[in-house]
Amino acid sequence: MAKKVFLDPGHGGSDSGAVANGLKEKDLTLKIAKATEKYLKEKYEGVTVKMSRTGDSYPSLSARAKAANDWGADYYVSIHINAGGGTGFESYIYNGSISSKTKEYQKAVHSVIAAGDGWADRGMKRANFAVLRETRMSAILTENGFIDRAEDAKKLKDSKFIDLLGELHADGIAKALKLKKKSNSAPSSAPAPDPKLSGLHRVIVDGKQTGAFGVHENLINEVSRAIKSGAKKVVVEVVEKV
Ligand SMILES: [Zn+2]
Repeated sequence: MAKKVFLDPGHGGSDSGAVANGLKEKDLTLKIAKATEKYLKEKYEGVTVKMSRTGDSYPSLSARAKAANDWGADYYVSIHINAGGGTGFESYIYNGSISSKTKEYQKAVHSVIAAGDGWADRGMKRANFAVLRETRMSAILTENGFIDRAEDAKKLKDSKFIDLLGELHADGIAKALKLKKKSNSAPSSAPAPDPKLSGLHRVIVDGKQTGAFGVHENLINEVSRAIKSGAKKVVVEVVEKV
């Protein structure tokens, strides 16, 4: 049976959420949630998605939780933007009694997003938020950057970054729920692999080979990993041409 994912873009309607740097939290959360839905459906099979809102409306927090409960969702994912001085990404699960599954799911979702967003990882946290408390299934709430922090806001203004946050949420949810990747999944927004890059490439990080890759995506991941871990010089070299 298909897994049911309930996406909850935080705030909406008369509740803008946090507002700063010309951005409104309610607009960003809706965009991220819509991108998450797009990538879940595009890349994975055996998943159905419902949203607490698809436009600029404000269902109450209890109404959101109730909609997910009534639907019998397998996972509730509430998407927010932080404010109040800080930077980076953090996630929350309920600080009361929860299942071990909820903790496992948080680990899966959090690790995927934190590894891909390029932001400081503020950690996996717990709090008494209404949507986490009132939902009967596993639930998580993500806080994606600080709207009142200039550097975070700059990234949040970039539609490509919003799209990436959506894809990371989708990939994290898929990891938690063990969704199967569609065999023909072609990412719609990611650039198509450059045909010139097919063939085997080796990656040399600070003078030391860290691997050889025939698959474009793996090559890119390795380069990205090297840069994130503070590499000073990353060389990609053709080993053989096919
Ligand atoms: Zn919020």
